Amino acid sequence: MRLPDYTKCVEINQLLVAMGVKTIPTLPVVRFEKEIIKRFEREYFDHEDVKIGEQLIDSAIPVYKSDLTQRPGELLEYKGRKVVAYIRDQRATIDFDCNYSNYRYHLCNCITLQSMRDIGREERYLATQRNDGMFEVHDLTVHPIQKGIVRMDLCKNCEEILRKKRKYFAPFNLKKYFETNDSYTPKAIKKIEEVRSIQTYSPKQADYSREYRKACNNKCRICSVDCSEATGFLHMHHINGDKSNNDRHNLQILCVDCHSKQPLHRRMLGNPKFKRQIEIITKLRIDQGLLTV
Ligand SMILES: [Zn+2]
Ligand SMILES: [Zn+2]
Ligand SMILES: [Zn+2]
Repeated sequence: MRLPDYTKCVEINQLLVAMGVKTIPTLPVVRFEKEIIKRFEREYFDHEDVKIGEQLIDSAIPVYKSDLTQRPGELLEYKGRKVVAYIRDQRATIDFDCNYSNYRYHLCNCITLQSMRDIGREERYLATQRNDGMFEVHDLTVHPIQKGIVRMDLCKNCEEILRKKRKYFAPFNLKKYFETNDSYTPKAIKKIEEVRSIQTYSPKQADYSREYRKACNNKCRICSVDCSEATGFLHMHHINGDKSNNDRHNLQILCVDCHSKQPLHRRMLGNPKFKRQIEIITKLRIDQGLLTV
């Protein structure tokens, strides 16, 4: 006949501990650390927006009427920037010898620009921030198309609007126009960034209890009953009775039953709450296959 494994017997273990024959292993080391997450806002330039700004200065961007300022008489804007609008593909003869075209460039949503839009002229306007008064044009009246960079003048209607707005000056030049009217800075994108760090903290009584129970897998250190479902049944016991000494050598994690069997703890049995809990612990041990005599 095989004898039961009495080393697992709850009552025998409790007895051996009480007799001082068996010592409860010291609690494992617990680090009282917590993760600190710091959030802060950082600003990045919107690369797309920066690219648009560079393209406008270096060359010209085809724009549809919906992209430009809609309100009549207002200074032309494209994506927040003041721009010059002009037609690159021209059907009037361009004087390439004198580097000059009779076409005019626009700075405002003038009548010419509005009527061009209204009749749905298919020429697409180009927007640029080039500021030397020179424009890249294509002469469509010759074959093959002749391309070049020519000077153009400001549209008369736009000049009128600028005069009314007191933004016209003579001799007019685009460099000064942009300097005084365009103060656009590329858009910034705000992003929330997280920095995680581990910091040690000074534990309170509840922290010791919680962390040591966790370190013991919510099991009693004498009878091994698993109290994961009832962590309140696991107590943090101070071995020398000094509740201010939370050194792990002075602490143990014990179920309410094993706790009540510690020296000077018999009074616990007078507490109806603990008595009820001890009954539940007994059932838990049976459910968990822990031997009892
Ligand atoms: Zn105009
Ligand atoms: Zn126990
Ligand atoms: Zn105790």
